[in-house]
Amino acid sequence: MIGAFYQPIAVEIDTDVLTSLPDREISAGLAEVVKYGLIMDDDFFKWCEDNAHGLRTRDPALLTQAIRRSCEFKAEVVSQDEREGGLRAILNLGHTFGHAIEAGMGYGQWLHGEAVGCGMVLAAALSEKVCDLPSASVTRVKNVVQAIGCPTTAPALDGFEQWMTLMRGDKKTQAGEIKFVLMPKIGQAIVRSAPADAVQAVLKAHCDITDTKAA
Ligand SMILES: [Zn+2]
Repeated sequence: MIGAFYQPIAVEIDTDVLTSLPDREISAGLAEVVKYGLIMDDDFFKWCEDNAHGLRTRDPALLTQAIRRSCEFKAEVVSQDEREGGLRAILNLGHTFGHAIEAGMGYGQWLHGEAVGCGMVLAAALSEKVCDLPSASVTRVKNVVQAIGCPTTAPALDGFEQWMTLMRGDKKTQAGEIKFVLMPKIGQAIVRSAPADAVQAVLKAHCDITDTKAA
């Protein structure tokens, strides 16, 4: 029923806006585009890998296609969510770690998309530990995030405890248990919790946390 209200998606890109946006804003926006490939469509992820340079350098045809596909993916998730419920949470890939970065650094220091891009690298590393994402796939995620111009190394913040406190504030947290969007493989997403030691190992590997008081 609700699906009947979806209109065909028309995307127009104002090229003046695209040329005036700072590089960081373009990179941040592309992180959310890559996200759709990771959670829904491995072919689209491959397309992002193949076109990362053109996207980052604002090729209008590529950006138009990237934005149109992203809108289609989002509409698909939302419409499926109306029928089955819960699916919408996968749109938060990279956001549990990302929101911690944004809040921990002070809002505005990292752009939202930059934090999400970095967060997707951490989510991929955690996926390798808890749901068998192949390490080659983790490398692909890191490489594409780097190629679109987003950071791949996270800030240490005030150590593991602050990371956990900030992530516990995420809206997906249930009964104090942090829920992560993870990938058993590229193009597929699940929402689940992860053992604290796996989370800590990922943070240690990606943000130079030397503070071991929580270990
Ligand atoms: Zn976002």
